[in-house]
Amino acid sequence: MIFWEATAAPLPPAPPLAGEGACDVAIIGAGILGLSTALALAGSGVRVTVLEAATVGAGASGRNGGLVVPSLPRIGPDDVRARLGGARAARLLALLAGGADDLFALIRRHGIACDAVRSGWLNPAHAAVLAPRVQARVAAWQAAGARCVWLDAAEARARLGSTQFHGALFDPSGGHLDPLAYTRGLARAAVAAGAVLHEASPVLGAQRNDGLWRLRTARGTLAASAVLQCTNTTPPGVPGPVGGALAEASVPLIVYQLATDVAPASVRAAVLPGNEAFSDTRNNLLACRWTASGRLVTGGMAALHTGAMDRLPRKLARRLEQVFPALAPVRFTHVWRGRAALTGDFLPRVIAPAPGWLAVTACNGRGLVMNTMLGPELAAYLRTGDAAALPLPITGPRPIRARALARFVPQLLLPLGDWQDRRIAG
Ligand SMILES: Cc1cc2nc3c(=O)[nH]c(=O)nc-3n(C[C@H](O)[C@H](O)[C@H](O)COP(=O)(O)OP(=O)(O)OC[C@H]3O[C@@H](n4cnc5c(N)ncnc54)[C@H](O)[C@@H]3O)c2cc1C
Repeated sequence: MIFWEATAAPLPPAPPLAGEGACDVAIIGAGILGLSTALALAGSGVRVTVLEAATVGAGASGRNGGLVVPSLPRIGPDDVRARLGGARAARLLALLAGGADDLFALIRRHGIACDAVRSGWLNPAHAAVLAPRVQARVAAWQAAGARCVWLDAAEARARLGSTQFHGALFDPSGGHLDPLAYTRGLARAAVAAGAVLHEASPVLGAQRNDGLWRLRTARGTLAASAVLQCTNTTPPGVPGPVGGALAEASVPLIVYQLATDVAPASVRAAVLPGNEAFSDTRNNLLACRWTASGRLVTGGMAALHTGAMDRLPRKLARRLEQVFPALAPVRFTHVWRGRAALTGDFLPRVIAPAPGWLAVTACNGRGLVMNTMLGPELAAYLRTGDAAALPLPITGPRPIRARALARFVPQLLLPLGDWQDRRIAG
C-alpha cells in the first residue's frame, strides 16, 4: 500500500468526462506537471480541462519519496550548457536555482497542507575518492546560482548521524513533503482557479479537424485548440503515433518505496536529526527522509521485479542498518512502487509530434521541483506561442534508440552499479 494514501487528505472525486466538452487547452494527465500547468493557465484566464485516466496523483506524482531537490540527476551545469546552448541553459539553470523557493512559495500561496519541511537537501559522498568530485559539483552549481555549500566530513557525519560519509553537498533550499498531498493540493488550487478536472477519463484516441483536437474518452469528447500531454511513463499512455511520441522519448524505470514503522524519538534524534532530505552518491542511490509522523521513507530498485516486493525490504533494511546503525532493527510497514521516466541525457523533453500538440516529460526521478517550475513556463508558451522564451527546445519526436532493449538497461546495470558502489567505498 502507498504510505501517502494514509496521510494525504482526500480530494472529492472529479466526475468522468461525459458528452461533448470544449476548452482552449486540454491537459492529459493529473500529475504534478499537468496540474502545475493547469494552475498557471487557469490563473491567467485560459479555459483549461484536465483529463486523468485514474485519480489525481495516481502516477509517479503520488508515489514518490517527496524529496525536494533543486538539482539535476547525474549531470551538472556544464552538461546543461553543452546540450542546450548559452541562453536556454542559463534560463533553465536560473529556474532550477530558484526552483525549490518557488515550490515552497506556491505551497504557502495556495495553503497546500502537505507536511512541507524546508530543512535542506544533503547529498553526501559515500566514498572518500568521491569527496573531491562532490566538492567540484558544489562549486559548479554555486557558479550557476545554486545556494548549495560544501560540508566537510565531520559536519556531514554530524548532520547525517552516520560515520560512513566523506563530506556532502548541502542545499538549504531543498527539503521534503508528502507528494500525494502536494499533488492533490495542486489539483484543488487549479480547480479553484477555474480549471475543469475529470478523473476516470483515459484518453483513448485523438483526431484533429479544422484546427481543433478532439480527444475521445469512453463516455465523451473534448475539443481543444491545444493539447498538452503530461502522461509521463504512467499507463495507459495515449495510443496512436501522436500520443506514443512521449513514451518513445524515455525509458520507464520501476522504483520501489518503503516506509518504516514509527521510530522512537531517540532514533530520530540520532539519524538526520535536522530532518533534511538525503540522497547519496551511489549508482544504486540510497535516499531517505523522515515523515511528519516519524517514519523513515526510503527507496530502491530491483534487478528482477518478480518477488521484489518481498525481497527488497530485507535488502534495504540491511542497507539502512549498515549506514545508520541507530535505526536497527529496521521494519517496513509499507512497500509500493512507481514508474519514473528516464531520458537519454537526464534533461526534460518538450516534443511537438503534431500541430497544436505538445508532449512533455521532465521526470528523471527529480520531478517535484522540475515539473512544478516547468508548469508556468509551459503555460506561458501555450498562451503566447513564444517558443524562444521556453527554457527547453521544442523538438519533433525523439525516440530513444533501440528502446525495446534500452528499457532493460537500468535494471541490467544495477548489479554492476552495486558492485562499483561497494568497490569504490572500499
Ligand atoms: C518511486 C518514485 C520515487 C520518486 N522520488 C522522487 C523524489 O523523491 N523527488 C522528486 O523530485 N522526484 C521523485 N520522483 C519523480 C517524480 O515522482 C516524477 O518526476 C513526477 O511525479 C512526474 O510527474 P508527471 O506529472 O510528469 O507524471 P505522473 O505523475 O506520472 O502523471 C501522469 C498521469 O498521466 C495519467 N495518464 C496516463 N495515460 C493517460 C491517458 N491515456 N489519459 C489520461 N491520463 C493518463 C496517469 O494516470 C498519471 O496520473 C520519483 C518517482 C518515482 C516513480
